[in-house]
Amino acid sequence: MARHLIIGMGAAGFSAAETIRQHCPDATITLVTEEPYGYYSRPGLAYLLTNELPQSQLFPRSEQELDRLGLERVTGRAVCLDLQARQVVLEDGRRLSYDALLLATGAAAVPPPFPGANLPGVVTLDNLDDARRILRLARKAKTAVVVGGGITALEIVEGLRAQGVRVHYFLRRDRFWSSVLTPEESRLIERRLTHEGVQIHYRTEIGQILGKKDWRGRVKVAAVETKDGKLLRCQMVAVAIGVRPRLELVADTPIQTDRGILVNERLETSVPGVYAAGDVAQVVDPLTGQAQLDVLWPVAVAQGRAAGANMAGVPTVYRKGVPLNVTRLAGLVVTLIGAVGRRREPDGDLVTIARGDSEVWRGIPDVLVVHDEHEINRQRLVIKDNRLVGAVIVGDQTLSPLVQRLIAEQVDIGPILPALQSPHVPIAEVLRHFVQNGR
Ligand SMILES: Cc1cc2nc3c(=O)[nH]c(=O)nc-3n(C[C@H](O)[C@H](O)[C@H](O)COP(=O)(O)OP(=O)(O)OC[C@H]3O[C@@H](n4cnc5c(N)ncnc54)[C@H](O)[C@@H]3O)c2cc1C
Repeated sequence: MARHLIIGMGAAGFSAAETIRQHCPDATITLVTEEPYGYYSRPGLAYLLTNELPQSQLFPRSEQELDRLGLERVTGRAVCLDLQARQVVLEDGRRLSYDALLLATGAAAVPPPFPGANLPGVVTLDNLDDARRILRLARKAKTAVVVGGGITALEIVEGLRAQGVRVHYFLRRDRFWSSVLTPEESRLIERRLTHEGVQIHYRTEIGQILGKKDWRGRVKVAAVETKDGKLLRCQMVAVAIGVRPRLELVADTPIQTDRGILVNERLETSVPGVYAAGDVAQVVDPLTGQAQLDVLWPVAVAQGRAAGANMAGVPTVYRKGVPLNVTRLAGLVVTLIGAVGRRREPDGDLVTIARGDSEVWRGIPDVLVVHDEHEINRQRLVIKDNRLVGAVIVGDQTLSPLVQRLIAEQVDIGPILPALQSPHVPIAEVLRHFVQNGR
């Protein structure tokens, strides 16, 4: 009987396990997870911080559903791959044998690089334990400093505001998420944050985090000193400067890596029988021909399914689709699809990719961009060679499914390009009219 071993019980690992079970009712499927909670929604952690979701609703599968899958769950940390013996070694010395192995270890927050970063009260947001720690600290903290960019930094900012904490948000340059958003989109988000009571400090960086002893003699966060010497009292510091694929397990192996683990279109690594999927995998994007990282839940699920099918002996090609994230930024629903960012404009607040982000969003050169901007509802279309390659839809989302379809089907929108480029164009009307009249 085939032995399938999966390291990581996140979106990719769990989807792979479900898929293997569909194809192989009798196979042994072992999932190794260092987290005690099993399979839960990581994007849902943001809503736990804002009290919009109780912890119990983070779990997409019931205990009965999990039992029915007949998975062997091992709680522990995998520390070493013995590729010769086809075994994985756990921290406690146990050795688990496999016929097919999936590495679905996800990505981890880049550690805060400032002096004082190891003080209790300095947090990042990777998992449920981190979210619970943030909530615990927020109960006692009056003031917090948040640094970083992208979706996670904003989720922490909004979570802390929802817990009644006063928030100082430091931006290293002069606007939010400059690698993906236009200046107008950044300003809209910043105005809303300010309205929510968040104090934004532009061109401000942490020099060091300072601690002091509490009445029990324990050292805790007391203030941050900025690089230009200002002191700001706070009891918490949250850092979201990007994530990196977790490559520890493959470090001294022949498995090829770049920023993530490189895989072929069957999600197999350079070592036969060893697969990788999810945040840890770096997959070729057909649009650019480059191997790129996505840190997106639906992508991890799709890759997990494809890897699982291949492990089960059902040859399945994974085609990277157009990355999509429907998220919330400062209370506004925002859909990001495809190539919407700027490659030549590095984001000062992120040292790597953010969660809920895709390298595809960094954009492709020589594109035509058209906008339809109102106070809150905005559409931005990115066009290359008469085809839509990306879009940002802020606020009203009724156009989102249509735009997603036009991008996925690579529809030739040449006939409406002149209309789309005219000043003050109602983009939504032009696109709907185009589709309703048979393109
Ligand atoms: C706060 C937050 C907000 C997010 N928001 C969005 C969003 O808006 N939209 C979106 O699409 N995506 C979002 N994401 C990203 C999304 O959750 C990830 O892309 C997805 O979870 C990746 O799945 P994965 O299976 O690759 O990795 P993970 O879900 O990270 O699972 C990996 C698991 O492997 C375990 N592991 C790692 N190494 C080992 C080891 N050596 N031994 C044992 N276990 C190990 C880890 O502890 C973890 O449990 C968000 C993530 C977070 C944390």
